[in-house]
Amino acid sequence: MSFKRTRCPHCKAKLEAGQRIHPECIDGYADAQAAKAERAQAKAALMAAKVEKAETKRRLRELAPLRDFIRDAQHAFNAWVRARDEGLPCISCGTLNPPSLSTGGAWDAGHFLSRGAHPEKRFMEDNCHRQCKGCNGGSAKNPAKAKTVSQRYETELLNRIGAARLEAVKAPTPVRKWTRDELTAIRDTYRAKTKELERGKP
Ligand SMILES: [Zn+2]
Ligand SMILES: [Zn+2]
Repeated sequence: MSFKRTRCPHCKAKLEAGQRIHPECIDGYADAQAAKAERAQAKAALMAAKVEKAETKRRLRELAPLRDFIRDAQHAFNAWVRARDEGLPCISCGTLNPPSLSTGGAWDAGHFLSRGAHPEKRFMEDNCHRQCKGCNGGSAKNPAKAKTVSQRYETELLNRIGAARLEAVKAPTPVRKWTRDELTAIRDTYRAKTKELERGKP
């Protein structure tokens, strides 16, 4: 059984016996085929670009996230510190009503030994206390102020937790790398602890 073309592939009108395409349709047909191939190619390129974009996004998620996990755990921890110390004055300057300096309220959770110098103490409860934004912020640019803030912090910290716990804060802490699972657990624990504190409020 042989296939016999009866219609022109370009204009779809009937062909005469022995014809495979109308002579006047040859150019138009060739152009149309070329355009079709070009569209197919463009579509394939678009699909490839989409696949590549998704792959890049996936790789970035895999590469970047530990930092995101640390950030989320720190947010939850700091929120709990502020909740725990509600009603207490700023650990450095003693103010009870600090001005709201920027968005996010007037209070920070300030680390006695900074997260930058002592990342291993970033989730140590005794190392972090509610501090006014004025004391916590900007001291990096002002070493004299930082020193005063830190000295006052230490004096009040000693009052609050006593010498033994203060020594424990200052003692070397093993440097550690938290896993994503551990950071998620820290985040969830402090979210729960904050909720508990809020439930206990009058
Ligand atoms: Zn034709
Ligand atoms: Zn203060």
